[in-house]
Amino acid sequence: MSKKFLFICAFAAIIPFAACNDNSTSSSQEAHFEADGWALYNTSWEVAYKVWRGSSDDTLRVNAGCLSEHLNIKFLDSDSSIVNPPEDSDHSLSWTVADTTIFNIYQEEAGWGFHLKGIKEGTTSLILKVLHVDHSDVITPEIPIIVEEKLDPEDCPFQDDDEN
Ligand SMILES: [Zn+2]
Repeated sequence: MSKKFLFICAFAAIIPFAACNDNSTSSSQEAHFEADGWALYNTSWEVAYKVWRGSSDDTLRVNAGCLSEHLNIKFLDSDSSIVNPPEDSDHSLSWTVADTTIFNIYQEEAGWGFHLKGIKEGTTSLILKVLHVDHSDVITPEIPIIVEEKLDPEDCPFQDDDEN
């Protein structure tokens, strides 16, 4: 039994949602990432979207033809305290956009941050996921996304450093 496995099980004694009772678990399954919520921060470290234990009234907005601010992903634990994203290579950010004709996700590079890229005016939704090899460890509820009127690139509020 590895030290890492022992550590996770010791943790599970305190936090009941981690499961360590399956002796056949593979190394990838031992390292599930657990969180009770998500917090998306803008570049000023203000909360742009927050959900804890499944409920949120927050909405994300972007103009058509524009990128949103860069949003950094953090997680919330059972006390609603901030937790950093997993750092191992088995975990990555994944997402489902309900209608990719309205907006899509734009990333400069793979990691725990992204922009919304507004395509046309409308309302749709986004689900963010922590992908762990072949399954999701943590997902958001459907995040409402509102794409507002189309702007020319020079009028976009956050068209700063990273678009081409
Ligand atoms: Zn997992």
